[in-house]
Amino acid sequence: MADKSPAILVTGGSRGIGAAVAELAALDGYDVCFSYRSRKADADRVCAAVEEAGRQALAVEADFSSEGDIVDLWRQAIDAFGVIHALVNNVGVLEPQKRLVDFDEKRLQRIFDVNVIGAILCAREAVRHMSTQRGGAGGAIVNISSIAARFGSPGEYIDYAASKGSIDTMTVGLAKEVAGEGIRVNAVRPGSIYTDIHASGGEPGRVDRVKAHVPLQRGGRPAEIAEAVLWLIADRASYTTGAILDVTGGL
Ligand code: NAP
Repeated sequence: MADKSPAILVTGGSRGIGAAVAELAALDGYDVCFSYRSRKADADRVCAAVEEAGRQALAVEADFSSEGDIVDLWRQAIDAFGVIHALVNNVGVLEPQKRLVDFDEKRLQRIFDVNVIGAILCAREAVRHMSTQRGGAGGAIVNISSIAARFGSPGEYIDYAASKGSIDTMTVGLAKEVAGEGIRVNAVRPGSIYTDIHASGGEPGRVDRVKAHVPLQRGGRPAEIAEAVLWLIADRASYTTGAILDVTGGL
């Protein structure tokens, strides 16, 4: 009997960067479980692409402001695939561009619930599953941060930037905490990438507005982020943990 394929869990895999990671992971030989929030048709498209690459796909609806949904996502992934070798902690949301002086509590709650608390709870489930101290097989976690953590996003979304700063700090701390348990933890900080997220910030064409400031003179493609993520997950990156990799076109 052929060896079972390794399995990966990608959060927010129905569109944008998460979809690119799911599709490249399938081409690299992983079975793929991914979450989406509500866009089932997009999730179905990603399932079809994964299956076309000859791998198994499972799409699970999960809202990252709900701890129950995150726990259930992991339960379904483990039920379907057994051992999950890697987590790509990719879900992230933006609110419309505003100065901090105009923020309200509801907005801040949503950003931090989804981008920080959801990501940390998802990493917790990964550690519970992967830790060799708990009988797991080890694994890799890649958190998707943002170059906003370095620049701060003044006049646009300081709250989002601060949430991604939390992801960087979580990456560094968790990498050290679980290094002896067979788990590597790294982050990728994308620059301006062509996805739908900019529309939720109120400026669908943002990448084209800012690309002149990018040393490579263009926005990035989701597939270019996926390449970095897949490298960090693979055994080729076996000595890399606690790293934060900027994939920004030189910013
Ligand atoms: P995107 O195109 O907006 O896709 C977002 C994904 O997350 C979708 O799969 C969506 O599901 C899911 N999602 C949205 N809200 C959710 C929630 N509350 N709970 C659970 N899932 C939810 O985003 P993206 O641009 O690919 O961004 C992916 C990650 O990269 C984010 O962490 C983002 O902060 C980071 N990033 C992006 C850029 C960029 O320029 N695009 C730059 C730096 C960092 P549905 O399809 O069902 O809505």
